[in-house]
Amino acid sequence: MSNFVLIKNANVVLENGILWNGAILVKDGIIADFGNEKEISAPSDAKIIDANDLYVGPGFVDIHVHGGSGYKTYEEPIKASGYFLDHGETTILATPSYSMNLDEFLEATINVKKAWGEAKTIRGIYMEGPYTNPEYGSLSWLNPWRNGVLEKDYKPLVDEAGKYVKVWSIAPEREDIMPFLEYAREVNPDVVFAVGHSEATPEQIRAIGSKYRPTLMTHTFNATGRQPVAGGTRGYGPDEYCMREPEMYAELISDSCGIHAHAEMQQLLVHCKGVDKVVLITDSTTSDGENPPELKHIKDLNFDEQGGLSGSKMTMELACRNIMTHTSCGITQAFKMAALNPAKAIGMDNELGSIARGKRADIVFVDDKFNVKMVMLGGEMCRG
Ligand SMILES: [Zn+2]
Repeated sequence: MSNFVLIKNANVVLENGILWNGAILVKDGIIADFGNEKEISAPSDAKIIDANDLYVGPGFVDIHVHGGSGYKTYEEPIKASGYFLDHGETTILATPSYSMNLDEFLEATINVKKAWGEAKTIRGIYMEGPYTNPEYGSLSWLNPWRNGVLEKDYKPLVDEAGKYVKVWSIAPEREDIMPFLEYAREVNPDVVFAVGHSEATPEQIRAIGSKYRPTLMTHTFNATGRQPVAGGTRGYGPDEYCMREPEMYAELISDSCGIHAHAEMQQLLVHCKGVDKVVLITDSTTSDGENPPELKHIKDLNFDEQGGLSGSKMTMELACRNIMTHTSCGITQAFKMAALNPAKAIGMDNELGSIARGKRADIVFVDDKFNVKMVMLGGEMCRG
């Protein structure tokens, strides 16, 4: 018996446009072919899925997600994975909190490793820290990583987590960061470095040298600063470096009211980076502090117990809708920023991130308001 699935009656969202009245042929969990419905044929015993004229695009890749619906991605990875999968996120990176101490980081890592394979969508860990700048971020005073970058701290963490870590986010201004970067790369040659929670100058970022230089900006415009410069001139920090530097991918939290980034800042980012370098993230957390009074009306954000902004309550379908609200991006660009760009940023675009022959059949079906209606993971329907 063949293991073919034919998705028909689909408006297929490709990398650079929409294939109307299209079909996708899946074989053994892999996209075997796609094209105009009339041109794609399948064996007679293929399972047929009627997409009902929905938009059919690549499963979302959320590289920066701490948790949602009460489940932390690094405490209850299987439940968190299931929750986000329901919302079309077919690949996520479990993202521990940056304020944890070493033991907590180790425990988070062990939790993720234990759930490996069973938490079907978790394909790695995003380490937001520990060597960020502890002055930045929600509840920053709780961040225990204020001493130097010491081998006795980072070696056990890299030894435990390193092979699973896709991204280490760091503040380049931290003294003695180099031996850490070298060791993290030695343990995992494919690891990507990001700038996050930082006020680094471009000189400090470039001082890292091309071999280890960051290629990703952690939630651009959030938890960043600029060092003072003479004469009241505007400083030039990591956000500006990212906007100017062609190799940098820029993470963006696009929330419904433009709180993490004003609508016009989002427009500016898309203008500077182009649609190929913006990476939508949810930065979803399980914080459940109260909204500050002036932001009472906002439903898709999280606040810490002091009323500070603490990530979002979003899933990627909302982030896609929001970027279409705040910028001139349409459905094709939103899919690119939610799937292909993040896959590229973490070096997984050879196997996922777009509807292309040979890629894993991670496929999401959405209506024209970006409501997820059906989800396929590796060729298996798991919702709808
Ligand atoms: Zn985060």
